[in-house]
Amino acid sequence: MKILIVHAHHEPKSFSSALARRAEEAFKEQGHTVDFADLYAEEFNPVSDRRNFSTVADANYLKQQTEEAHATEVGGFAPDLEMEIRRLEACDMLIFSFPLWWFGLPAILKGWVDRVFAAGRIYGGAKIYEGGLGQAKKRAMVLMTTGGGPDVYGGYGVNPPLATVLAPVQHGVFWFNGFLPLAPFVAWSPARITPEERAKYLDALEARLQNIATEPPQVLPPLADFPGWGKDTKKRFMVTVTRVKPMDEKFKSLIPAEQAHLTEWRRLGLLLDFRMMSPTAEPWRAFMLFREADVAAVENHLATLPLAPWLQFEIAEVN
Ligand code: FAD
Repeated sequence: MKILIVHAHHEPKSFSSALARRAEEAFKEQGHTVDFADLYAEEFNPVSDRRNFSTVADANYLKQQTEEAHATEVGGFAPDLEMEIRRLEACDMLIFSFPLWWFGLPAILKGWVDRVFAAGRIYGGAKIYEGGLGQAKKRAMVLMTTGGGPDVYGGYGVNPPLATVLAPVQHGVFWFNGFLPLAPFVAWSPARITPEERAKYLDALEARLQNIATEPPQVLPPLADFPGWGKDTKKRFMVTVTRVKPMDEKFKSLIPAEQAHLTEWRRLGLLLDFRMMSPTAEPWRAFMLFREADVAAVENHLATLPLAPWLQFEIAEVN
């Protein structure tokens, strides 16, 4: 594979930079080709304006997408930008390596996205989502460090959940352009942990990258499910789960398999939310929000749950 690592940290001795360099080494050891775009070291200019172009479609009014479409037709991107666009076009896998800044990308990397993902050349018309540059074949991954810990982004923390924070990248940049988003690799609060814990993160990253070419990606909805880009053709179903038999030893032994099942449904984009009461609550209930075509499809999924024989499901379509 040709791998493009776009790295955005101003300190080469930072932990974020150590992760990015470890990723580069690991990929090279596997025989992949790595293009390491070190945005600060290369003094990438993140400001998007007329300097993006060596051509002009409209000298009186700068409309970026119009100029991008024109530059696409006539080969009018500025040489520095043309080079970056070619790096993106050439890769089979894209890695964004950065410290989380204000719940998002550092400006230099956001500017790289703003300038390099150019209308006409990279996206537009039918060239979005599964029809986009990645063609639902290329892969992409976030490699991120944070200040806050996992609890802060875990769904009940003071900050939004990790998936919400990363949606602009995972969905808005990667999947919008047809790149299959992999689960992010997050090194939580590296400045507040021990050197040994940091070393473990580096080793965990290297181990994970061994199977990155075949790792199942997060499935996000294809454009085909939204005719005319209108409302989702898939419906939403709330499933209320009750127990019809007591929790015996067999039940308890199947809990890890049950959890793996739910995780897989989340990855496939079938299970949008899951909430469960404490196992000892009486009466006990769990709630699942599904994205599916119809009740029968939901029933088919539920029947495959390892704990299905102990459970009863009430399915209701919701708006
Ligand atoms: P560093 O401080 O560079 O590294 C941590 C430690 O690792 C250092 O002691 C370093 O020496 C050591 N180290 C380096 N290399 C190695 C190695 N090979 N092996 C072992 N140790 C090593 N955080 C949030 O959670 N949310 C936000 O919204 C947010 N917004 C921010 C906005 C701004 C503008 C800034 C500046 C920070 C923000 N932060 C936020 C915090 C930021 O995300 C963290 O400071 C950053 O991610 C930490 O990673 P780092 O690589 O910079 O750590």
